[in-house]
Order: sequence, then C-alpha cells, then structure tokens
Amino acid sequence: MRTVLITGASSGIGAACARTLASEGNYRLLLCARREARLLELKSELLKDFENIEIHTFVLDVRNRDEVFDRIENLPAAWKNIDVLINNAGLSQGLDAVQDGNPDDWDRMIDTNVKGLLYVTRAVTPLLKQSQNAHIVNLGSIAGKEVYPNGNVYCATKHAVDALNKAMRIDLLPFGIKVTAINPGMVETEFSEVRFKGDKDRAKSVYHGLTPLSGEDIAETIAFVLSRPAHVNINDLLIMPTAQA
Ligand code: NDP
Repeated sequence: MRTVLITGASSGIGAACARTLASEGNYRLLLCARREARLLELKSELLKDFENIEIHTFVLDVRNRDEVFDRIENLPAAWKNIDVLINNAGLSQGLDAVQDGNPDDWDRMIDTNVKGLLYVTRAVTPLLKQSQNAHIVNLGSIAGKEVYPNGNVYCATKHAVDALNKAMRIDLLPFGIKVTAINPGMVETEFSEVRFKGDKDRAKSVYHGLTPLSGEDIAETIAFVLSRPAHVNINDLLIMPTAQA
C-alpha cells in the first residue's frame, strides 16, 4: 500500500488522479486544495465507491509558505508515511500579450505554479526519503516545451517546472526517489474557465475543432508511470490530444 499526496485535488486532473488511484486498490489518498467543500464531496464519493479506501483531506494554499510547512509537519502520524507526491496544483490566469498583462495575474501564476510546487516539494521530501518506493510527479505542460501567443508568463512557469523536474531528478537520485514530468496538451477541466476568469463561453471555445484530453486520460497515464518496476523511470512525458497542433 502506497500513500499518495495530491495537490489541487479538488477538481480536474487532481480529482481524476484520486479516482483512478482509488480504483487501483493499493493507494491511501492524502488530498489537499483550497476548496474544502469540494475535497469533502470527493472524499464521500470515493468512500461510497471504493470499499476500505483510506482518505485524509486538508485545506492547503500552496502559495502560503508557512501554511505548507505547518500542514505537512502537523499531518496525523498515520499519514506521514508519504510515498508519492503529485505536484498538480496550478493555474493559468489571463491570456494577454506581455505588454498588456496584469501583474497580479503574473504573481498568482508564479506563486502557485513555481513557488508553491517548490514549497510542497521541500516540505514533503524528508518524508519521501523514508519510503522504499518514492516518486514525485510534476504537472508540467506543453507550455513548458513551447511558447504560444499571449502565453508568456504561464509558459515561463511551466518552463520552470520543466527545469525543476530535471533538477529534482538529479538531486534526488542518491535517495532513489523517482521524478517524472507529465506534460499535457489541452485537457478539459476547470483550467480554461479559471484562465478566462469565469467566462464559460470563451473557456469552451478553445476546444473548438478537436476532442480535448480528459482528466482521466492524464490520471491513467500517471497511474501507469507510478506502476513501473523499481528500475524503470519515465522522466518526461508529453501527452496531447491527437488533433491539437
Ligand atoms: P483545474 O482548474 O481543474 O484544477 C486546478 C487545481 O489546482 C484545483 O484543484 C485547484 O484547487 C488547485 N489550485 C489552484 N491554485 C491553488 C493554490 N494556490 N493552492 C492549492 N491548490 C490550488 O485545472 P487542471 O486540473 O487542468 O490543472 C491541473 C494541473 O495541470 C495544473 O498544474 C495545470 O497547469 C496543468 N495543466 C493543465 C492543462 C489543461 O489544459 N487543463 C494542460 C497542461 C497542464 P482549489 O481552487 O480548490 O485550490
């Protein structure tokens, strides 16, 4: 039985990872995000669907450094044996040319996607070092491999995740901790609605002419990555909708 901590578990890819890993029957789930009601809803759904599943939820804003270290340090003793960390919490806010961008949007993306991922990783690695089967999965993006019009700061944060993924792999190699970046193209989640600040029509329009990936497509890929034997690590994986250029 492995214990997995998923950040940003209240929706989209994070929630899909919780469902998929619950269905595998060999994971205990530590789920966190800012929206407590959504976490509790997911927990009761999973408890109904999967007999004997163990789940612990807690509220966490990954941008808040003190909160991150405090929440991890004060996890109940039975939940400190973390084997897998899925650094999933992230967002894109706005899609503007750099000369027109809103610095508040930039701060939010950098604080969540880069600094938040670093804080959680720093807080959790001492626990991962105790595991015989430790793995960190970082949610990057195609935006961490390429740059597209008006994607400037979001792309920069995901390029940073790409660099951090490589750096973590090197630094954690002596401890046998696997590190993997999962880099999706378009996934239909609440991501697009967050990006366009609640404008549902604009959010939907980005999927026009193609079938986007689902959260489950990414979750199944992560479950596969986590299930590889001890000597196999998938370092970096790009997963795209077939019709996305
Ligand atoms: P969602 O908007 O559906 O989910 C994002 C999750 O991140 C939510 O659970 C949200 O929870 C959480 N989150 C956001 N800010 C914070 C914060 N400050 N502290 C803690 N949790 C936070 O989008 P996705 O599921 O699509 O996104 C998941 C990851 O996948 C992100 O890193 C994203 O960049 C990446 N990605 C997504 C793609 C897509 O097309 N959807 C493509 C490529 C990568 P809450 O609001 O409750 O805190």
